[in-house]
Amino acid sequence: MRLAGYEVVPIHSGDFKLDGGAMFGVVPKPLWEKSCPADARNRIDMTCRALLIKSSKHTILVDAGSGDKDDAKFRDIFSIEFPKGSVTDQLALHGVKPDDVTDVIYTHLHFDHAGGTTVLRDGVAVPLFPKARHYVQSAQYHHGLTRNPRDRASYIDANYEPVREAGLLEFLDADTELFPGLHLHTTSGHTPALQMIRITDGAKTLFFPSDLVPMAAHVPSPYIMSYDLFPLTTLNDKNRWLERAAIENWVIVLEHDPRIEAMTLSKDDRGRIIIAKSGDLSEFSQREQ
Ligand SMILES: [Zn+2]
Repeated sequence: MRLAGYEVVPIHSGDFKLDGGAMFGVVPKPLWEKSCPADARNRIDMTCRALLIKSSKHTILVDAGSGDKDDAKFRDIFSIEFPKGSVTDQLALHGVKPDDVTDVIYTHLHFDHAGGTTVLRDGVAVPLFPKARHYVQSAQYHHGLTRNPRDRASYIDANYEPVREAGLLEFLDADTELFPGLHLHTTSGHTPALQMIRITDGAKTLFFPSDLVPMAAHVPSPYIMSYDLFPLTTLNDKNRWLERAAIENWVIVLEHDPRIEAMTLSKDDRGRIIIAKSGDLSEFSQREQ
């Protein structure tokens, strides 16, 4: 999809599975299992969908999936697989080499978002994108350092400390327009200072809400992950952002939905936010250009 001087391409960066109950919080399984069937270990299919954003000046990657540094036990628990190859393979399909990437935006530092930004070379984790400035909110980085027992399993030093040690990590302290038309907005329900990406030319808008709305099934208000540290913040922020997205007809790209890449929203006759259209991002480009 092209807008605001950018070409935006979803990048498949691996598949994995998470506990279906944890993905939908207080919502009972009979309600979620129709759209997201669970396997024998109660896990549902998920994907890691990064964004490649190219302009005349920048080659930007938003998140990079879990990467392949993890041991066999970790890969088995989360069923981490790369049926379409690595993030490097996927970038190559669009003519991008790791050295070409000028900027990496971490929505947050959980393993399924940050892991793919480092790779093992001779058993040592090193930055995969050695020429890129990597952006994270400082509140997110410092929260990771606390190693809170509730979410410390999500923070793995090898996924981002090599980036910091190489002098490539840049800390942000607020919402910002990082590049013209490319805005970063923070939300702190899932984890402190998660960054969402909004690209707009004033008429068309693309929104990448990361784990505020990981899958299409999370559009209804009560569908909130048990992983979220502050679910009522998620509830309020999700309602606020999806309301705006529905009114202004934004195209939303979903980071973790294995089947639905992008969607637009509308409201039903009771005022609830519902999905208007869903499909691959390229379908929205054709319809709207
Ligand atoms: Zn995630």
